[in-house]
Amino acid sequence: MIVRKTDQLGRIVLPKSTRKHFNIDTGESLEFFIDANNQIVLRKYNPSCSFCDSYEDNLIFKNKNLCRTCVSEIKEIKS
Ligand SMILES: [Zn+2]
Repeated sequence: MIVRKTDQLGRIVLPKSTRKHFNIDTGESLEFFIDANNQIVLRKYNPSCSFCDSYEDNLIFKNKNLCRTCVSEIKEIKS
């Protein structure tokens, strides 16, 4: 366990070993939320697919996140 104190603005520094382990680069977005057990969860920001909420293998198209499965299904739509 690693203990860190917050500064006057509430910031903490993630230890270098943690950043390296999770492959977190400078400027990378992280998100945090309160889970069902009232715990603060911090994780790499990985927005889900706009259609199915999948976090797997997403790409961005016109500022929307789409998974490859939904992209394939969209390609099959005939107008
Ligand atoms: Zn999808």
